[in-house]
Amino acid sequence: MDQDFSHPVGQFIGGAWVRGRADAVSVNPARPTEEVLRYAIADSEDIDAAFDAAQRALRPWGAMPAPERGRIVRRAAQLVESSRDELARLITRDEGKTLAESQGEVSRTIETLNYHAAQCWEPEGHRYASSRHGEELYTVRLPVGVVGVITPFNFPMVIPSWKLGPALVHGNTVVWKPASLCPAPAIALVRIFHDAGVPDGVLNLVLGPGSVGQQVCEHTSVNAITFTGSVPVGRMIESSSAEKRVRCQLELGGHNATVIFPDADIERAAKSAVASSMLGSGQKCTSTRRVIVHESIRDQVVASMFDQMEALAVGDGLDSDTSIGPLISRAAQTHARDGIAAAEAAGARVRTGGRLTDAIRSSDGFYVPPTLLEEVTADMPIAQEELFAPVVSVITFRDDDEALDLANGTRFGLSASVFTSNPLRVRQFVQLLDVGVLHVNGLTTGAEPHVPFGGRRDSAAVQSPPEQGPAAREFFTWTKTVYEEPAVSL
Ligand code: NAP
Ligand code: MG
Repeated sequence: MDQDFSHPVGQFIGGAWVRGRADAVSVNPARPTEEVLRYAIADSEDIDAAFDAAQRALRPWGAMPAPERGRIVRRAAQLVESSRDELARLITRDEGKTLAESQGEVSRTIETLNYHAAQCWEPEGHRYASSRHGEELYTVRLPVGVVGVITPFNFPMVIPSWKLGPALVHGNTVVWKPASLCPAPAIALVRIFHDAGVPDGVLNLVLGPGSVGQQVCEHTSVNAITFTGSVPVGRMIESSSAEKRVRCQLELGGHNATVIFPDADIERAAKSAVASSMLGSGQKCTSTRRVIVHESIRDQVVASMFDQMEALAVGDGLDSDTSIGPLISRAAQTHARDGIAAAEAAGARVRTGGRLTDAIRSSDGFYVPPTLLEEVTADMPIAQEELFAPVVSVITFRDDDEALDLANGTRFGLSASVFTSNPLRVRQFVQLLDVGVLHVNGLTTGAEPHVPFGGRRDSAAVQSPPEQGPAAREFFTWTKTVYEEPAVSL
């Protein structure tokens, strides 16, 4: 598959690319002078046209047998597979993560699309015993309609795949607005779905900044919104969709804790804490932000973490020895630096690690070195607000209750990890940690496609089913109950 971005790219509406002016540019965060893509920003006419196309396509697409829709999504997975390396390079160039991580993302995209494609074989409803002689009583699952899909920059291929896959397999049509800072993988994915046989109008792409996303969310024809991104934007979408009584699914930020007890394998725990907090340059919703460690092993954990962080090679994600790439933008880099300075001003001790070559130090890439913050207390902003960067805080505890209170002590509830060899303690944390995803003796990051993924409290909407796994069907369909009496008296 040829990803030719030499011409400005426009919207994809009704099965055709609508080319426009080159209003915006997406750059490589490792080399900001390198343009990855010039593209046109959707105006309100484009957005109306996208919704018109999606509405027109709804009935025939919904009427197509689910296994046929599943076959098309499976073909898309095969096309992703056949362009694996090219897509991974594209993700790295547009987003900045290392090539190894991009390859992992492409692999997970393939699995995710295959998983959701296979849902076409699952039952579409239940059959019940009726109280009336000869009556059939059953439920059917039906598509919710036109779905607005809004996605973030940090997983530009796999997050869209776990929204688009189930939306399409369950018979919905889509208007998708990807992140403006990383639109190239979205364009590649739309080309793939088109080549796989998704009919015209079923999947529409509109490009541009948050204002375009807002117009998608507030459009009169939107029937459901699935959003992954930051808490403030998610809250706005939640209010506007509640007002319009539009179904909405939100996957928002986190302030994830790795909790380490003295009975754990401490070296392994420290290694996981570094990987969880640093990989992806700390730009994962599930990245560890706080390492909550028993006071008796604090020095050992900090020393081990810092040694590992010193060894991390910071650089261009396309270089094979790079372990930490740049952040997504200059604004993100400035925000991270300001956050670190504010933490220091609040009393934290800053230790900066990483191997930065002179070339990287003097480059204008959006780099932030791996940063460990000691002497952090739970009330500091750095321990409460998400900083999307390779920055991790260490906080100490004395007993289990304090560890639990600290781990639960932010407004977020996405993921967490607990390191211990005590099964009773594991049970207690499974019971009492208020997070949607809990890892035991493992990284806080990572999500398999066949199990539910979602957060609690400020990490999600008040009423939003999780994504992924069988739960995806809950969001992308609704249930109708049918009482079917025989046409003639029996
Ligand atoms: P973001 O700024 O909230 O943006 C997410 C998407 O929303 C982008 O496409 C953005 O467009 C769009 N948008 C911005 N303003 C909007 C508005 N008013 N109405 C509708 N759409 C709007 O988040 P981000 O910086 O891309 O991503 C990082 C955040 O996502 C972090 O908080 C992270 O924790 C969270 N996240 C959560 C999960 C999860 O599953 N829980 C997974 C990954 C990331 P522009 O890009 O053009 O601004
Ligand atoms: Mg970019």
